[in-house]
Order: sequence, then C-alpha cells, then structure tokens
Amino acid sequence: MKIIDLFNSNKQTVSFEIFPPKLNTPIETIFNKLGDFAAMKPDFFSVTYGAGGSKKGRTLEIASKIKEEYRIESLAHFTCVGHSIEEINTMIKQMKERNIDNLLALRGDPPIDMPDFDFSKNVFSYASELIRHIRKQDNFCIGAACYPEGHADSPRIKHDMHYLKLKVDEGVDFLITQLFFDNRVFYDFLDKLSAYNITCPVLPGIMPIFKADQIKRIASMCGASMPAKLVLLLDKYGNTPDMQKAGIEYASNQLRDLLDNGVAGIHINTMNNVEATRTILKNIGIL
Ligand code: FAD
Repeated sequence: MKIIDLFNSNKQTVSFEIFPPKLNTPIETIFNKLGDFAAMKPDFFSVTYGAGGSKKGRTLEIASKIKEEYRIESLAHFTCVGHSIEEINTMIKQMKERNIDNLLALRGDPPIDMPDFDFSKNVFSYASELIRHIRKQDNFCIGAACYPEGHADSPRIKHDMHYLKLKVDEGVDFLITQLFFDNRVFYDFLDKLSAYNITCPVLPGIMPIFKADQIKRIASMCGASMPAKLVLLLDKYGNTPDMQKAGIEYASNQLRDLLDNGVAGIHINTMNNVEATRTILKNIGIL
C-alpha cells in the first residue's frame, strides 16, 4: 500500500522511525522490539539507511519484516551517496522484489572520513536526480526530506526552498521534516511551502531528547536551533535520568500542539526506544 493513500483518507497519521542496529549487533535486537512497537498501531514505520549504505541489507530486511509479519506499511530510507548506478538499480529492484512500495529518497551526507566529498562526482548530485531516476523505474510512492530551518549546506533558506520545489516537482508524494524543537519554526515553514506552491503532505519529524550531550551533538550536525526554554532544560538536567523524563514531556507537548494545529500526521523518531514511545503516545492521548 502506498503511504500517500493514508494521507488521502484525511486521518492524521502516526509513524515511527527506527534504525537498523550496527553490523556487529544481531539484527534480532530490533526484530525483538517490532512486536511492541506494532502493538502501538502506527500507520507506518520508516527504517533509516546507514550512512554510505553500510547497513542497506538491514534496512531492506527490517522494512520487509514489518510488512510481512506485522502487516504494517513500511517506508525504506534510501541514500544515493557513494553508490554506483548499478548498485542503485539493484537496490531499487530488491525493494520491489520484497514488496516495498514506499521509499524515502535521499542524497545522503558526505562519508564520515571525507567531509569535503564532491557530490558532483556522485552518480546523482542531489536527491531530485535520484527521484527522477526512481520515477522512471517503477511506481513507488516517494517521500523526501525537507528542512524547516534550511539544510545545513544551504547558504540561504530561499535557495533551499527553491531546490525543494524542484525536488517535489520531480514526483515527491510527501515530505518529512528534519527534527525541530520549536513548533513556530514548523508553522512558518508551512507558510513558506505554500508561497512556493508546494502542496504535498508534510510530516513534522520529532525526536525526544534523552541526554543533553546526545541532542547537542545531533542538533549541531543538522543545524536545528534550540529555543531558550529547551536550553534551560538541558542546563538543568544535563545527562541525568531526569533529562529523559523532561525530554519526553517536551516532545509530547510539541506533538500534541502539532496535532491540535491540524498537521497531516506526526513522525516520531523513536531512537528504537519502545518505552519512551509508549509514554509519548499516552501523554498525547493516542494510547
Ligand atoms: P537534497 O535534497 O539533494 O539537498 C541537499 C542540499 O543540496 C541542500 O542544501 C539543497 O538545498 C541543495 N540542492 C538541492 N538541489 C540542488 C541543485 N540542483 N543545485 C544546487 N543545490 C541543490 N541520512 C542518511 O544517511 N540515512 C537516512 O536514513 C536519513 N534519513 C533522513 C530522514 C529525514 C526525514 C531527513 C530530514 C534527513 C535524513 N537523512 C538521512 C539526512 C540526509 O541524508 C542529509 O540531510 C543530506 O545532507 C541531504 O539529503 P537530501 O535528500 O535532503 O538532499
């Protein structure tokens, strides 16, 4: 089933992002959690793709298990950075063979040991080119990433909006945002999308904070800003267990406000944490 059909039914969707375990960790560590996640009845799962495709087999395996065993739709993330055209085509073919109908088509980040990676030497320099390529191959439902505060590489937000419009026009069915901590940023972004005539559904991506260090590292990598009230929380709780409690409450408040303001759905970056996800859903009245 295509995820776009869920949006067409006008119900606010709830989706969970999970990530494959490291290659030296048994895949069962995530398989063992799928039943608990599935019991919370998300509309779909998204499964991330390891930087540079390191865990691509796992993305596919997990995405297809979700569909086959739990009968829940899955969205396989797919980055093209560092892949040859043959590898890209094989991956697309394998997704089709495993009945994956939904892809999150991404450019990806530079490999960790090559911060100055030259994307012009990549098969596709931008996600929009990957999307054009996938569209020619098969009838997938295609999601793409968007950045309410602008992509970290973008010199100006209006550049990012311009390229986002080009990307969506290549055939994007829906967008998922990078994490943000201030819902006003998201509501302003929705206004910008409409100014650029980008009309597809947009899912806000929310990540609960478990430790101050973890979120400072992630936010500094992706360029998400932190409102004063969040900085105060990080200062107060640091890396103590109380930070996790406060982080879950903070994410729950963001999600409740987004639902109340009529978003198409909410996308929760679960960090593979079943208990935290369950608490969030209870807090926002979904469980
Ligand atoms: P693009 O849309 O190609 O944009 C990248 C940059 O290029 C932007 O600054 C854009 O403005 C600019 N640009 C686009 N087109 C042009 C053009 N024609 N000319 C000049 N500039 C242009 N990474 C992973 O490795 N695995 C994952 O599973 C993963 N999942 C993600 C999920 C979400 C929801 C998000 C928001 C990000 C995810 N990422 C993931 C991170 C993502 O790979 C990086 O943010 C990456 O740097 C950009 O990917 P993109 O598809 O958004 O790129």
